[in-house]
Amino acid sequence: MSRTGPTRWQAEILRRAEDIVRAQARLLAAWRAGYLTGHQDGWKAGYERAHADRDQDWSAFAKPVARELARSVGLMERRWGPGGREHFADPRPGDYPGGEYPPRQALVWLAGPPVHRHVCSDACYAYAPGAYSPAQAAEVLATLPGGYEGSQK
Ligand SMILES: [Zn+2]
Repeated sequence: MSRTGPTRWQAEILRRAEDIVRAQARLLAAWRAGYLTGHQDGWKAGYERAHADRDQDWSAFAKPVARELARSVGLMERRWGPGGREHFADPRPGDYPGGEYPPRQALVWLAGPPVHRHVCSDACYAYAPGAYSPAQAAEVLATLPGGYEGSQK
């Protein structure tokens, strides 16, 4: 009698052993997935707890400090003025008292192409563009090349 393969009971043992190995592999994979999920949930819960603790600690620390700081440096006085909040809208020194507004002095704006209708010279670069009184503007224009209305050039 020659043997070509495992006997029936040996084949059954091999089949059951393979079932056991596959079951162990499934259990190991499920354990790994559960461990990773728990690990991630734990990190998340830990950070949430830490942030909540930090916020609570910060409020307990910062609110009294902010109150004391505002009192010690006179923050409310700087914010509302010397009379406090109740007198915030009162007139202050230097405020416009009402009535007729004083006349503004007319100014002449010297800059750009209307002034520089010529080949610019050092005289052009000697003054800063901006608002000038009429007398100052006439002096500046008198130094520039080219003829302007009212100038002798
Ligand atoms: Zn010029």
